[in-house]
Amino acid sequence: MPWCDECSHFYNPNTLTAEGDCPEGHHVADPDSDDEPGTKIPWHFWLLVVALVIYLGWRLIQGIQWLLS
Ligand SMILES: [Zn+2]
Repeated sequence: MPWCDECSHFYNPNTLTAEGDCPEGHHVADPDSDDEPGTKIPWHFWLLVVALVIYLGWRLIQGIQWLLS
């Protein structure tokens, strides 16, 4: 949620202008990023995805080895 230092106030992204300014005219958010920080995918999510892919890949190799043996 965008926070304005000058106003000491949290703003709903919808109440900000297209430029990312608060109603008082202070610049609060980056205009080119539609997603607020709370909705961004954290880096540890990708770590989990990579770990899952490696795990599934390993299980696939094991499965192929089992089929061939
Ligand atoms: Zn403000």
